Amino acid sequence: LVILNRARRIAVARTGEVLADTGCGFQELFLKTAQSGLHGLEFAVGIPGTLGGALVSNAGAYRSSVSEFLTGLEIVENAERRWVEPGYLEFSYRDSLLRRPDPPPIVVLRVTMKLPQGKPKQIYDEAREYQRQRISKQPPSASAGSFFKNVVDPELAQRIHGLTDGMRKAGVVPAGFLIEACGLKGTCYGGAMIGARHANFLLNVRGATATDLRRLAELAQSAVQDRFGVTLEEEVLYLGDWSNWDRS
Ligand SMILES: Cc1cc2nc3c(=O)[nH]c(=O)nc-3n(C[C@H](O)[C@H](O)[C@H](O)COP(=O)(O)OP(=O)(O)OC[C@H]3O[C@@H](n4cnc5c(N)ncnc54)[C@H](O)[C@@H]3O)c2cc1C
Repeated sequence: LVILNRARRIAVARTGEVLADTGCGFQELFLKTAQSGLHGLEFAVGIPGTLGGALVSNAGAYRSSVSEFLTGLEIVENAERRWVEPGYLEFSYRDSLLRRPDPPPIVVLRVTMKLPQGKPKQIYDEAREYQRQRISKQPPSASAGSFFKNVVDPELAQRIHGLTDGMRKAGVVPAGFLIEACGLKGTCYGGAMIGARHANFLLNVRGATATDLRRLAELAQSAVQDRFGVTLEEEVLYLGDWSNWDRS
């Protein structure tokens, strides 16, 4: 069953309360809230997809994520429609209950959010700055966005050379940094390539199949495991049945 979620209403109150259907575009949600002088979702600029997709992976960037602003979720679970607290979906860094290997049959219909008031100039300047950073660092070619989650490991962040002070303080090691350190930028498998500009982007450069991308991802994972003893965890979701896929 494939569901195209066309429910995309967004209602914004001046007080900062937002009610949004999960079929609305995540970037559209930022634009609507910014137009009402609300601040917080600037990081959504450049993140494609719907609010529903953003919730499942707790999408975020620049030290913010969507779950921070939620006050309630309307869900359907086992044919029952009800409102639950955000904690019900167990959000954490790029993760939620809906990403678990055997997720419960939950569809999120609507959310409520509370966003602080901001100054329009600051809101748009911040969004433009994030967009500028994305354009300068991320490849324009077809990709699934960041492939692996960054590694939160304060001990590793101290041990590795070449990290910025900010990353060291936060105890975060970017996945792209580790893949690049293994010398894998520009490595190809079939039609897929590890980004030459940003190593955490696996690009479709010549009609890549999902298997090409997955093989390339495993190559990066095993190189990083061998060199740093770190297991890179996917930020992307593999859809479909992969139980019999050929790893050879
Ligand atoms: C170029 C690029 C840049 C990106 N940058 C970022 C970034 O900076 N930060 C970040 O966090 N992510 C980033 N991403 C990933 C992005 O967050 C996801 O691609 C996006 O959120 C998926 O949304 P979608 O509507 O396409 O979801 P889909 O791919 O359609 O769905 C994803 C999963 O969520 C489920 N789902 C969707 N809606 C609902 C719902 N209402 N209820 C229950 N389950 C649902 C689907 O069944 C599916 O399992 C980037 C992706 C790309 C391509």
